[in-house]
Amino acid sequence: MEQDEKRTTLDTLDAGSVGGPVASQLPEEPKGPAEELSEEDACIPLRMVEAATYCPRQAWYRFVACDDPINVHMQRGLNRHETFGEQEPRVALGGQVWRHLPVFAPLLGVSGVLDEVMLTPDRLIITEYKTSHRAAAIWEGVLMQLAAQHLALREHAASARWLGPPLPDALTATTLRVYYTDSRRDRETPWTAALERRARAAIARCHEIVRLEAPPEGLVGPRCDACQHEPICLPFDLPKLREGIR
Ligand code: SF4
Repeated sequence: MEQDEKRTTLDTLDAGSVGGPVASQLPEEPKGPAEELSEEDACIPLRMVEAATYCPRQAWYRFVACDDPINVHMQRGLNRHETFGEQEPRVALGGQVWRHLPVFAPLLGVSGVLDEVMLTPDRLIITEYKTSHRAAAIWEGVLMQLAAQHLALREHAASARWLGPPLPDALTATTLRVYYTDSRRDRETPWTAALERRARAAIARCHEIVRLEAPPEGLVGPRCDACQHEPICLPFDLPKLREGIR
């Protein structure tokens, strides 16, 4: 059965199983700095922050097992996200706007691409585009992703890689913004110290997830209906199966 095959594949993911008789005859390589992960390999993708907030188990499937199937909800979102690159760029009076801005923050341990960054001498606005109607409030996962983007941009802008002007003060000049393409409306929230603490905790959770050899417990609930990993996660059937083999 396809589901069983997927489950077996995931359950047997084991780096130690790589290598055959020839590899086993080779002298053991000395362990040392050469075997440590590079800065880039040690970074988690910024996208993972939103996924881990949605469900840590889903984040493990996507970013550790590299199993990233696209369901109808995601495809709809991708189709609409493509159109945002064709929209008129926002005008920053006396400033600059970057779209699809790559950032690399090895100290924070994240890297990724920001949808849109608007910078003037006294304002920084980071915008994430979402293919949906405007929500009553910015959803926690999107908020954590935006906050992680801001922290990553700060570190990136403090490095030699940054060729733009200095960023204005974080606490007084930074706005996180979500633009909902379906309704063409937005929501904004200011940067706060509390937001920074929560974002750092969310990033730390992602680093814990990528070190796990098996998927963690999921946040089982109504969200599972829209989850592309429901067929392999079996959130409602797995507890019964476990109970049955006891
Ligand atoms: S089906 Fe539910 S518990 Fe399983 S990964 Fe998806 S959201 Fe998480």
